[in-house]
Amino acid sequence: MKWQIPVAECQALALPFENNRGTTPSRRDKPMNGQMMQQPLLISSLLRHAERHHGEQQVVSRRVEGDIHRYSYRDLAARARRLAKALAALGVGQGARVGTIAWNGYRHLELYYAVSGSGAVLHTLNPRLHADQLVWIADHAEDQVLCFDKGFLPLVEAVASRLASVRHFVLMTDREHMPAQTAIPKLLCYEDLIDGQDDRFEWPEFDENQASSLCYTSGTTGHPKGVLYSHRSTVLHSYASALPDALKLSARDTILPVVPMFHVNAWGLPYSACMVGAKLVFPGPGLDGTSLYELFEAEGVTLSAGVPTVWQGLLAHVQSQELRFSTMNRTIIGGSACPPAMMETFEDRYGVQVIHAWGMTELSPVGTVCTLKGEQLAWPKSRRRAIQAKQGRSVFGIDMKIVDEQGEALPWDGQSAGELLVRGPWVVERYLKGEKSPLVMHGGQGWFPTGDVATIDAQGFMNITDRSKDVIKSGGEWIGSIDLENIAMAHPAVAMAACIAARHPRWDERPLLVVTRKPGAQLGRDELLAFYEGKIAKWWTPDDVVFVDAIPLGATGKVLKNQLREQFQDQLVGRA
Ligand code: ADP
Repeated sequence: MKWQIPVAECQALALPFENNRGTTPSRRDKPMNGQMMQQPLLISSLLRHAERHHGEQQVVSRRVEGDIHRYSYRDLAARARRLAKALAALGVGQGARVGTIAWNGYRHLELYYAVSGSGAVLHTLNPRLHADQLVWIADHAEDQVLCFDKGFLPLVEAVASRLASVRHFVLMTDREHMPAQTAIPKLLCYEDLIDGQDDRFEWPEFDENQASSLCYTSGTTGHPKGVLYSHRSTVLHSYASALPDALKLSARDTILPVVPMFHVNAWGLPYSACMVGAKLVFPGPGLDGTSLYELFEAEGVTLSAGVPTVWQGLLAHVQSQELRFSTMNRTIIGGSACPPAMMETFEDRYGVQVIHAWGMTELSPVGTVCTLKGEQLAWPKSRRRAIQAKQGRSVFGIDMKIVDEQGEALPWDGQSAGELLVRGPWVVERYLKGEKSPLVMHGGQGWFPTGDVATIDAQGFMNITDRSKDVIKSGGEWIGSIDLENIAMAHPAVAMAACIAARHPRWDERPLLVVTRKPGAQLGRDELLAFYEGKIAKWWTPDDVVFVDAIPLGATGKVLKNQLREQFQDQLVGRA
C-alpha cells in the first residue's frame, strides 16, 4: 500500500514532500527524540508534591513513648529538610548508608525522605532478626549512621561495639526521653539534631538511577542478600501500586500500614501515600488486635495492609468483642497466601474487601494484585472467591511467565505449574556486592527466578502453589502445600496450619500437617483428615497431623517451614 505524509507534516519533520511517496521509508528517516522535559524521578519529588498539594493532610502516629502524635505533610516536609541538613552536618554524603531499626512512625518516615532525598541510602533493618544477623547485615551494608527507636536501645547496646562501620548512633526520641546512662558512646538525640537546623534546604537533583534504599531478604537459606532500590524504581513502583486495579490509593484514603517499614518499605506505602495525598496512620509497636482496632476506628482508617498472621489477632479481637469496622473498606493481604477462610470472614461478616497481593523484597515488593475483571463481578460468589484466592494479575510494569524444569515456557491454562519468572523496572538485577546476577536468560532476555511455583490462567491470574523449596514431591508428583493449608484453615477449630514434606519410605515425601487449635477447641486427627474429603484429589490428603502449641514464625511473620521440617521430617518414617 502506498503512503504519503501530508505536506504540513513533512514541513514539521523537515522532510522534502516529493521524497515521501512510495512504500519504502526515506533514507533520511532516523529515530527522533521526544521533546518533553527531562525530569529525574526522585523520591524528594513525592514529598515536595505532598507538601504543595496536600499540605494539610495528616500523618498520625502512635509513638514509642505511648501517646498519639499528629502533624501534617507540611510539617513532615519541613522536618525532613532539617533532618537532611543535620545528616549532612554529621558527614553523611551521597551514597552513604544510614541504617534504621524502628517501628512505623513519623520519625521513621522523616528518615525515609531525608536520607534518600539527600542522595544517601536508607537501610531499614529488621529488629526481629537475631543479633548476629543484624551485625552481619549492618557490616555488609557498611552503615555509617544507625538511627533506632527507644525500645531497641538494649538490642543496640548489646551489639554496638561490633558495628565497626557505624560512626554515629542516633536515638529516635527527644531530650526528655534520653537515657541517663548508656553503653553507647556519644549517643545522639534525634530531636536535638532536628532542633539544631532550620528548614532552608533544597533537595538536590541527581540521576534517577542513583540508589535510594536498601533491604535485605530474610535469608532462610544462607546469608541475607541486599536489594538496592533506586529512585527511579521506587517512584515507578509507587505509580503502579497506586493504580485502581492495584491498591487503588487516593487522597480520600486513610492508610494504616501494619506491614513494618523495615519489611520491604512497608510495601511502598510511605511513598505512594505521599504521591496520592492519603492520610497516613502509623501504629508504632502496638500490633495487637486491640491497639490496631482502636486506631482504625479513632482515625477513620479506610485501608490497611499486612501479612495474614497479623489479621488473625485483629479478627480474634473483633469477633470476641462483637465489634464492627465502621470505616475500613479494604485491606491488602500478602507476604504469604491469604487463607480463603480469612477472606470470607472479612468480606461476609465485616464488609471489608480483601485485596490479595503477591510480591518479594526483590520486587520492591508489588508484583501481582488480585482484583477482578468486569465480567467476573457477575459470577456466582463461589466462583469469584476461587479467583480471589489467587495471587492475581501482574501490575503494569511487571511481566511474568512460568517455566518447567527444563526451562520451557508453560501454557497459561490455570493447570500447568512451574517456576515463576518475572522482569520489570522495579525487579532486582543483582544483589549488593553480589558477584553474579541472579537472572536467568529466557527468550534472549534476563528474568528473575522467584523460587515460587505457580500456575497462570487464561485471564492472567497467577496462583502460587508453593515455594520451590516447600513443594512436596510424592512419588514424583508435586503436591502444593498452600492448598492443603487453606483447607485446614477453613476448619472452625483450626487457628493455624502449615503443611510440610515429611520423608516417606515408599513415596519419598508425603504431606504432613502441623496445626494449632483455637483456644478451647476440640479437634482430633481423624476428624481433620475427614474434612479434606471431596475437596482435593484423595492422594493429596496429608498422611498425618501433628498438633502443636505454636507454629514458629520468622522475622516478617511468615511460617518457618524449615524449622518444622527439621523437627518433623521423620514423622512418617517407618510407615508403609
Ligand atoms: P522472604 O520471606 O524470603 O524474606 P519476602 O518477604 O520478599 O522474602 O517474601 C517473598 C515470598 O513470600 C515470595 O517469594 C512468596 O513465596 C511469598 N509470598 C508473598 N506474597 C504471597 C502471597 N500472596 N501468597 C503466597 N506467597 C506469597
